[in-house]
Amino acid sequence: MGLSTEEFWPRFLENIQLHIRPQQFQTWFSNLRLQAATDELVLIAAPNEFIESWLHDKYLSVMEDAAESVLGKRAPVQLVVDSTITIEPEKPAETVLTPSDLAQRQGFRINPSYTFSNFVVGPSNRIAHAACIAIAESPGTTYNPLFLHGSVGLGKSHLLQATCHSLLGRFPNFRIRYLSCEQFVNDFISAIQRNELLAFRERYRQTDALMIDDVQFLTRAERSQEEFFHTFNALYNAQKQIVLTSDAPPGEMSALQERMVSRFKSGLVARLDPPHYETRVAILQKKAELRGLSLSQDVIHFVASRITTNIRELEGAITKIVGYANITGEKPDLELARKALHEPGSSLRSVTIDEILKAIAKYFNVRVTDIQSKKRHKSIAFPRQLCMHLARSLTNHSLEEIGGYFGGRDHSTVLYADSKIREQAKTDAELQRTLGHIASELEKSSSTKAQPQ
Ligand code: ADP
Ligand code: MG
Repeated sequence: MGLSTEEFWPRFLENIQLHIRPQQFQTWFSNLRLQAATDELVLIAAPNEFIESWLHDKYLSVMEDAAESVLGKRAPVQLVVDSTITIEPEKPAETVLTPSDLAQRQGFRINPSYTFSNFVVGPSNRIAHAACIAIAESPGTTYNPLFLHGSVGLGKSHLLQATCHSLLGRFPNFRIRYLSCEQFVNDFISAIQRNELLAFRERYRQTDALMIDDVQFLTRAERSQEEFFHTFNALYNAQKQIVLTSDAPPGEMSALQERMVSRFKSGLVARLDPPHYETRVAILQKKAELRGLSLSQDVIHFVASRITTNIRELEGAITKIVGYANITGEKPDLELARKALHEPGSSLRSVTIDEILKAIAKYFNVRVTDIQSKKRHKSIAFPRQLCMHLARSLTNHSLEEIGGYFGGRDHSTVLYADSKIREQAKTDAELQRTLGHIASELEKSSSTKAQPQ
């Protein structure tokens, strides 16, 4: 045969790799040794009988084909066991960095769910959305600067972050500075205080895109406005992408210098309007789907007709309904949605962690301070878990905030408590009664302080 053993083996393995999946190759072929390769026989050693017989049963013809294509002649493949071969631990699969990971590396955070695919497009946001897509496809060339404006909760930050997602997804090395205007102002002030203005300028100018959320805050800070003007010009002249958002169009931002207004207007100015009914329905469906909830059509249409001007509130309504359903154990149907959203006093709108604590402490006859302590005794631990569950269902506090409230526990403890109670409540009638009782106590306390409508 014209091939040496050393030449045969890598080519043989390469050929196998063409025909089977990488994971299978790694598992079955990475610990073999070639004993001999001639025109008459290819002899391969496996580290144990299990691998040997598996190869024999599943991969014999793959191996014979590979041997044939390397040798140019078909030869039988035989397997033997060589127990001196040590099995190498599998290499961990290469980790692929997500856009959120890439953002974090560059020092900013984006919400992993604020993507274009999670953004519902309708007449109220079509232009803003299209402009962001165009920028994500070819930054710095089409709309520069892009100025998005609209009132609170209409998706400005979502679109900005979706643009970052998309850019980092396709160009992992693309440099972005994404920050709130307040952060920009703070950064600038601290650069002045530390005498690091040069480094500050450098940082902001060495970027491929600058995205600043809520630039209305710029109007409060005269010197920052001046600095921003220069940063803006430097980036703009270098054809770097700039995207800004604000609660008002450039011309209506009071105390904004005229030269800034004209810079802001020089590209595309796009407004986000409150969504139409159909868009609200589609957004609610999307949000429910993202949270793995199934809400009936009548509940969705009910919410879409009640909440009309702010998308964050649409989401809040889902949280309220689901929270209400969780604590009462009732189905999240139309009747419950009505109760949760607007029957005076029953909306649970204003439940606070303090009220939850008090209600639970009273019910279990324990002290509020004990629930908030680090004590692990069961008589305290269970009421504390109930508190965490209710705080998660009924308030908008983050897991970290809730954990902080209960003796400085971390978010995983809160998550655990919440899911444990939720699971238990599915089958435990006693717990259902307890939750029902506490819910009605909380309703009473929130109705006594409800504002007249
Ligand atoms: P803004 O920055 O304008 O105040 P956000 O971008 O924070 O608003 O949006 C508020 C919430 O509404 C976010 O949770 C966002 O995901 C959601 N949202 C806004 N517009 C849409 C949309 N068109 N589709 C899906 N979700 C949206
Ligand atoms: Mg925002």
